[in-house]
Amino acid sequence: MTRKENGAEREKKTGVGKGKRNRKGFRAATALILFLLGGAGLAEDGAEAPDDAVVITETGPAARELTGECRFQSNGNSRDYSVLTDGEVGTYLPLRENGKKKQGTLLITCGEPVCGLEIKAFDKYGRDHDYDLQVRSGDEWVTVDRGGTYLTHWHSLPEPAKEIRILSTGRERLRLAEIRAFGPGEPPEDAERWDTLDKCDILLLSAHPDDEILWFAGLMPTYGGDRGYRIQVAVMAPTGGQRKLELLGAVWHCGVTHYPEFLGFIDKNGQNPEKQYQLWKGKRRVVGRVVDVIRKHRPEMMITHGLGGEYGHGAHKTCADAAIQAVKSAGKSGEYPASAEKYGVWEVKKLYLHEYEANSVRCDWDEKLAAFGGKTGFEVAAEAFQFHGSQVRRNWAFERHGIHDNALFGLYHTTVGPDSGIGDLMEHIGGNPGAGN
Ligand SMILES: [Zn+2]
Repeated sequence: MTRKENGAEREKKTGVGKGKRNRKGFRAATALILFLLGGAGLAEDGAEAPDDAVVITETGPAARELTGECRFQSNGNSRDYSVLTDGEVGTYLPLRENGKKKQGTLLITCGEPVCGLEIKAFDKYGRDHDYDLQVRSGDEWVTVDRGGTYLTHWHSLPEPAKEIRILSTGRERLRLAEIRAFGPGEPPEDAERWDTLDKCDILLLSAHPDDEILWFAGLMPTYGGDRGYRIQVAVMAPTGGQRKLELLGAVWHCGVTHYPEFLGFIDKNGQNPEKQYQLWKGKRRVVGRVVDVIRKHRPEMMITHGLGGEYGHGAHKTCADAAIQAVKSAGKSGEYPASAEKYGVWEVKKLYLHEYEANSVRCDWDEKLAAFGGKTGFEVAAEAFQFHGSQVRRNWAFERHGIHDNALFGLYHTTVGPDSGIGDLMEHIGGNPGAGN
C-alpha cells in the first residue's frame, strides 16, 4: 500500500483533512468521538450530523494522559519497558518480526479506558514498520487500526479500551520507541497526527534532519504554523529511525502537519557537488528524485540550502545544485518522462537559496506569531531544535540569525517577477495560504 492510499484511508477514518489544518481535523475527530459517545450533542433531534458540523465544534475537555497508568508486557526477550515512555526516541523495545516464530506482541493494559494512542516505531533500517493495533473483544483480539504509513502514528480507538495489543506484522523486527496513551477528550497538540497532501505551497528541501531549523529558523512556524501555508519538508539524507523521529518532532512543533519526504540518500559528506553526486549514485538519479518531489507536491515556492553549503557541507551544496537543476526540469514533459507521466509536470514559481546574495530577502523571524501564543519564529525554532536530541548532545545549537544568517535568503529563480523588498517569501504567488490545487 502506498503512503498516499494509507493517508486517504486514515482521512476517512478520523475526519482529519476536512479542516485546512490537521489540528482542526484533530479536534473534529475528537468531537466526533464525543458525539458518538453521546457527550457532545452535535446534532439535534437525533438528526445525522452533517459533515461540516463536526468541524465547528472544536472545544472539548483535554484528554488526560494515561501512560503512567499503563502496564506493558511483550513476548520478546527484552523486559525494559521504560524505554517506551522515557521520551527518548533513540531507545526502543524490539518486537519479533512476522516470521517463522510467533509474532511479536506488546500487551498494554490500563486501569482507565484508553481512547487514543501515539506510537513511534521503526525498523532496523529506520523505515516505517507495519503493525496491527488490536483491542480485546471477549476472547478475541480485533484489529482496529494499522501502523506502517508513518514513523509516528496517532490511533483513535473506535471505543475506549483497557486492553490493547500491538502485533508486529512486518518482515523486520519492530522497534517501538515511544508510546503515549490518552483518555477521552481532546488530545494534546504535541501528539503527532500526520497527513499526506498532493499539493503544497512551499517545499523546503534540507540535507539532514536538523538543517530545517538551523538554516531556515522561523520559516516553518511563520509560514506554516502561523500563516497556514502548506509546507512540505523533504530531507535528502535521513539517517536512522532516531534522527527521523527527531525531525518529525521538530517539524510538528513548528505547526507543519504534512509528513516529510525522506529521500534516502546516504549520510556522507562528499565536500563538493561532484563527489556528493557520486556518493549518491549519480547526478541524474539525485536530480530525478527532487524532480519527483516537485511534481508530486506541486509547490509554488521552493527553498533550500546555500550554494556554499553553509559551513561547507557537500550534501548542503548539492541540495542547492540539485534544486536548481530540478526546478528547470520539472516543468518540461521531455525531462524525466517517467515521473512526468506519473505526476504530470510542474513549474515552481520561485526558488530561494539560503544566503544567496542577489535579490536577497531578509525574513522577520522576530514577528510575534498568534498561532504560538505570541512567541516569535526564532523562539519556536529554538524550541523545535530541542527535538533533535542527538544533535543537541553533539553540541549543535540553534542561534538567532547565527553565523550563516538563517533569516537571509536570495531569490534565485522566479516566474512572477522580482521581490519588492517587503520581506515576504510568498510575494506575488497569489491566492490564499492553502488554497487551490
Ligand atoms: Zn546538514
